[in-house]
Amino acid sequence: MSETIFGKIVAGEIPAKIVYEDDDVMAFHDVAPQAPTHVLVIPKKPLRSVLDAGEDDVLLLGKLMYAATHVARLLDLADAGFRIVTNIGSDGGQSVDYLHLHVLGGRHMGWPPG
Ligand code: 5GP
Repeated sequence: MSETIFGKIVAGEIPAKIVYEDDDVMAFHDVAPQAPTHVLVIPKKPLRSVLDAGEDDVLLLGKLMYAATHVARLLDLADAGFRIVTNIGSDGGQSVDYLHLHVLGGRHMGWPPG
């Protein structure tokens, strides 16, 4: 997974517009935003998706979700609302094989998603 785009971003091998980073997670703007604000939140530990997370990763999953809400506040999405989503596998629409949460906001989100 370190060979995926996001693994390379964690390693500093390719650039990203970082909005938040700590020892465990990183958040950066999506290169092809699907909303006025579209940020991806990833663990620094390479996991393919939430399916790849084991019992040892429970705290990390919590940190990921917490970082996503932190980013939403930082980017002023909290009052109007926003969406956090993670795509898993082929039917889930996952295109990058490295666990990431999408944080989308700045417009009304429809339901069900496409
Ligand atoms: P997925 O389809 O796997 O749920 O989401 C992958 C996301 O990664 C897409 O929204 C896509 O636009 C974004 N993405 C793909 N390549 C890059 C890149 O090199 N940099 C950044 N910042 N985002 C990327």
